[in-house]
Amino acid sequence: MFVVMARTASEAEILGVKSAILGEGLTPYDHAGAERIVIAVIGEIGSRKAALMSRLGGLGGVETVTPISRPFKLTSREFQPENTVIRVLDAVIGDGGLTMMAGPCSVESREQLFETADAVKDAGATILRGGAFKPRTSPYSFQGLGVEALRYLAEARDRTGLPVITEVMEPSQVDIVAEYADILQIGTRNMQNYSLLTAVGRVARPVMLKRGYGATVEEWLMAAEYIVSSGNPNVILCERGIRTFETYTRNTMDLAAVPLVHHLSHLPVIVDPSHATGKRWLVAPLAVGGVAVGADGVMVEVHPDPDAALSDAEQQLTLDQFRAMMAQLIPVHEHVRSMYAVPIDPGAVLAGSAGLAKH
Ligand code: PEP
Ligand code: MN
Repeated sequence: MFVVMARTASEAEILGVKSAILGEGLTPYDHAGAERIVIAVIGEIGSRKAALMSRLGGLGGVETVTPISRPFKLTSREFQPENTVIRVLDAVIGDGGLTMMAGPCSVESREQLFETADAVKDAGATILRGGAFKPRTSPYSFQGLGVEALRYLAEARDRTGLPVITEVMEPSQVDIVAEYADILQIGTRNMQNYSLLTAVGRVARPVMLKRGYGATVEEWLMAAEYIVSSGNPNVILCERGIRTFETYTRNTMDLAAVPLVHHLSHLPVIVDPSHATGKRWLVAPLAVGGVAVGADGVMVEVHPDPDAALSDAEQQLTLDQFRAMMAQLIPVHEHVRSMYAVPIDPGAVLAGSAGLAKH
């Protein structure tokens, strides 16, 4: 549930509500909305719900107390109707602009990263990607350059001005990755690694949470809820394809998830057609598709010589292909932008809730 404070509520009244919540062994989480303060009540409420709603409703300065019908609370549009907008260096994610994250699957050398970084920046990328710690299916495959790659990424940021994003695979890596990178990525294999989610929830860096390849939308949002409820509101969601019976593509990109998540949540959504398709020639059409259904941006893998790449050789774009794809994406984004400019009505979300579990 969340408590909507009256516009005229005093600081003391806001504190009074928070201490009543704390007194119940629950956690208050406040959000300054466009017009008023809203305080979510986080924790296991169980059978106390009705009594607690009436108790909080009777406190000074409280306008209404509203239950949140979803299992995800802080990430729901019910709690926060307006979009989350994330700023990192000069990049803005979720404001209606097109966020373009591009770079190699793995950082392989300083030269490889710099050549890619300069080219993607020149072509219009807004964020540089590059894997340092690589989650590889085979233990015998290239595992990434680790901290050496983090240093190259930080140098590439200084060189281009682009914020950098890279994956963190375990809680013990969070501090070092946060020291060098501007955005932390949680990979598909770790979407439900709750100790990792909690750990990235405690650092002052935005987090991009990839959808688990076997996860439902609800499980994905619950994973985001772990990060936000641990104290980090700056979460970007990334649809990177889910596993289906189809084998021509590496995964199946769930395009419907983009508008669906925009309905359910205020968090920005990025699509990753590189890992979704696994095939270079399918990346641009699926990137166009993602932007057309309202994605806030696209993550793509780009390499100066993809065939010689140490990981994901088949899906990385050449520098020229990335430039060509940008030229296709920009007009599509311009065309659909106004369609998605109006915030989604949370009432419509509730009306169309069939199929999602209620808690
Ligand atoms: C990646 O983006 O480097 C990556 C490994 O992606 P995913 O976790 O989606 O497989
Ligand atoms: Mn990859």
